[in-house]
Amino acid sequence: MRLPVYLDYNATTPVDQRVLTAMLPWFTEQFGNAASRTHLYGWTAEEAVAQARKQVAKLLNANPKEIVFTSGATEANNLAIKGVFEKLSYKGRHIVTVATEHKAVLDTCHHLEQLGAEVTYLTPSADGLITPEQLAEALRKETILVSVMYANNEIGVIQPIRELAAVTHQAGALFHTDATQAVGKLPLDVQAEGIDLLSLSAHKLYGPKGIGALYVRQGIEVVSQMDGGGHERGRRSGTLNVPAIVGLGKACELAQKEMKTESERLRQLRDRLESAVLENVPDTFVNGSATHRLSHLTNICFEHIDGENLLLNLKDIAVSTGSACTSASVLPSYVLKMLGLSDDQAYASLRFSLGRFTTDEEIDFAIQHIGEVVRKMRMDVSYS
Ligand SMILES: *Cc1c(COP(=O)(O)O)cnc(C)c1O
Repeated sequence: MRLPVYLDYNATTPVDQRVLTAMLPWFTEQFGNAASRTHLYGWTAEEAVAQARKQVAKLLNANPKEIVFTSGATEANNLAIKGVFEKLSYKGRHIVTVATEHKAVLDTCHHLEQLGAEVTYLTPSADGLITPEQLAEALRKETILVSVMYANNEIGVIQPIRELAAVTHQAGALFHTDATQAVGKLPLDVQAEGIDLLSLSAHKLYGPKGIGALYVRQGIEVVSQMDGGGHERGRRSGTLNVPAIVGLGKACELAQKEMKTESERLRQLRDRLESAVLENVPDTFVNGSATHRLSHLTNICFEHIDGENLLLNLKDIAVSTGSACTSASVLPSYVLKMLGLSDDQAYASLRFSLGRFTTDEEIDFAIQHIGEVVRKMRMDVSYS
């Protein structure tokens, strides 16, 4: 059986062979605990971690000391938001975020509301963007933290991070961004953009699952959410996952080198897919901003079509509706609903996300497959 064409790179990416090769020795020959300070096994592991920390920092234009390894972006978001709240709640208890954030941010905010935080959830406009003016209006003197994702996982919309961070700082608050979908995909500079905290995850950039990092600007303190041996300068205890950390480092190094050519190639493929679908299939439109968005993704609404059947019939391509994290539920995507789509429109919207291993032939195939399936479904409806 032929495997479906994978067009769901925003859900997860395969590990790049070069990343895997870099990781392998650290499982077996080089198995030392990076916290063992008394022998060569530990020192060697520690050195590998230091190297990876540099690679991650370099991609963000950060200092290696500012990188805290975590189990992924979910944990990084938890550490950023809960860690700042715990540290600064004596000053104020107000947090601002956006209604279209990933659940790892929204649910963390809901958790803090139970503990006395006041959270403002900004509503983006129909293109998915929020404006600095809109944020400025929401800020109060008790605001301690603003958390706005860099690029949206469902629609790929890129927020004006630099401007949002500037407005946040004018109000004396800290700025966190969940940049999981942006890191390694577009040039990113925590210094130039004024980012105080940034979350990332390896498995969205051709590294392994279960490893990520939080960038914490020097001088900012977060209260650790995982207590124990005081690893990661006391910010996240637990024995370091050396092979995974090495993999994350390698993935960052590769992304830095290949980002420009890769994103250009994917933009062309994405544009070809998108225009072919919009042209071949009547009653389709793109969700979210067409200009401020990731180059490897398109989210398309197929109007007057049953979304669930559409997904079932498109069995030769692997795509998703909504985000994988909410796909256990049958609710329509809250992100698309927030842009003003009806339930039916949200159900009938598909996210196509391309990546490093997507080929021309796969895009040709997807275009043809989508055209056939939708034509057939519409015909079945009109004859029934
Ligand atoms: C995938 C994703 C996460 C969760 O990352 P994990 O490493 O899987 O915990 C968080 N935020 C965004 C925007 C994501 O795309």
